[in-house]
Amino acid sequence: MSCRVASADQRLYGNLHHYVDQVLSYERQCVVNKAIDVLPWIELTKLAKENVAGAGLDPNSLIFWDFLMAEAVKWFKRSFFKWMTAPKCSQCGCDTSAIPLQLQPTQEELNYGASRIEGYRCTSCDHLERFPRYNSVEKLLGTCVGRCGEWANCFTFLCRVLQFNVSCRDEICMRFLLNTYQIQVRYVVDLLGDHVWTEYYSLHEKRWIHVDPCEEAIDRPLMYEAGWKKEITFICAFARDHVADVTMRYSSNHGAVINRRLKSSFESPRLYNFLWKTTQRLKACLMENQRKELDVQLACDLVNMMVERTPGQESMGGRTSGSMAWIMSRGEGDGQSGDVKFVFRPSARELACNKMHMKYNCRRDMYERTVGQEIIPGWRNGTYSSYGVFRKEERDWKKAYLARLEGRERGSISWLFEVSEDVTMKDVRIRFCGSRFEDGDISVTVTSGETQVKLNCDQDSGGDLTAIPELAGTKTFCIDCKLSGGVGDCAWQHAQLFRESTESDAEDVTPFEVIICFE
Ligand SMILES: [Zn+2]
Repeated sequence: MSCRVASADQRLYGNLHHYVDQVLSYERQCVVNKAIDVLPWIELTKLAKENVAGAGLDPNSLIFWDFLMAEAVKWFKRSFFKWMTAPKCSQCGCDTSAIPLQLQPTQEELNYGASRIEGYRCTSCDHLERFPRYNSVEKLLGTCVGRCGEWANCFTFLCRVLQFNVSCRDEICMRFLLNTYQIQVRYVVDLLGDHVWTEYYSLHEKRWIHVDPCEEAIDRPLMYEAGWKKEITFICAFARDHVADVTMRYSSNHGAVINRRLKSSFESPRLYNFLWKTTQRLKACLMENQRKELDVQLACDLVNMMVERTPGQESMGGRTSGSMAWIMSRGEGDGQSGDVKFVFRPSARELACNKMHMKYNCRRDMYERTVGQEIIPGWRNGTYSSYGVFRKEERDWKKAYLARLEGRERGSISWLFEVSEDVTMKDVRIRFCGSRFEDGDISVTVTSGETQVKLNCDQDSGGDLTAIPELAGTKTFCIDCKLSGGVGDCAWQHAQLFRESTESDAEDVTPFEVIICFE
């Protein structure tokens, strides 16, 4: 027992030192120069300024930085970094599956901090594919792929560079920075929970703000506990000039955190000692006034974290990054997966009327159940599952629709309808409108047990409600939609669902509608 504790402790402290070094590597000028070439900082700055102005705020005020961060995470997730589930075979392009074997790193891989090499076997030609888990941000700028570790590492680094860069090239921002403490970013690690993300210091709000680049989530610190059902125990933040215990920000039940800590094999006093000593060492490079400012910042953060907050609705969703299988293997989400798992079941009102009538309006992004006037806001909240899909609003064309995330080859989304034992579906009619451009592909299948029906979903021919007689007498069915195909950089836009004008509600046809009559 004591032996195991010692080795777990050794691993912990090994990791802690590694994170400190990692964040310090962000300051190396040669790496920063590479990142400056990669970052579209002019566009990001421009978008952020437009959004600040659009919100009726002063683009020269400190809130600019918060808008800049929002643009940065959007760009990072949608255009720059890719999620890796399993690599494609480099010989024949087919899928590969993981083999339970760590491969030996090459010297080159080791040079870029990849001591762990995952192995994958091609399902078609048997070729062995390698996936090195790089730690070097220099390397990640080129590979642009990984899982949460690579994502958070590269994103935290780029935020740091973004701020360097904007502050160097933009006079207005320069003015702030000359008078204020340099904007800070932190690499945040759930030490027992195997997930990492970013925090930045908001000059406007005067507090540290959570950013998860994998999820494009900003300021939703309770999402891991409330949404992913993680047990929060030790969460540490690593910056170039300090390390800090930020656990309490991520839990709405501080008593439970303390209980878990008492039972955990990690000794809190030893951990605090490490954090304190490391911070003293890192702070030594700061100037006197910066050191004082940092001390105030950290003290305020401690007070801020003492407040137990309750999770809002925005923290309740499961993971959106990663494939379903990957999410399930990690046991995140609501027990089985990271999906919403919403099921349309008839209410008492609907049963009394022998009818359920659901309409989804993309302009207002909400589901409406006409019997009983129930509203479900947000497309995701009415889905059973979805993967790689988002709602796009085109400001210039004044259209809204669902499409797969930029850069994703595939997106999928499903809705589930179910009645209880004593009720049977008699008549089911569905309207499902999709818009295809180039060779974008939309495939819609309605499934109930063994029965599978393909739905025609072209915008023009999809205008009518389609009766599905095969569903008569059943108790449940699922509508599955898969988005793929398209050409070039905009391929994701070539398969759109529920495209509607954002200007008026005058459309006579709801793009997605399900009517079920009961027996
Ligand atoms: Zn192959």
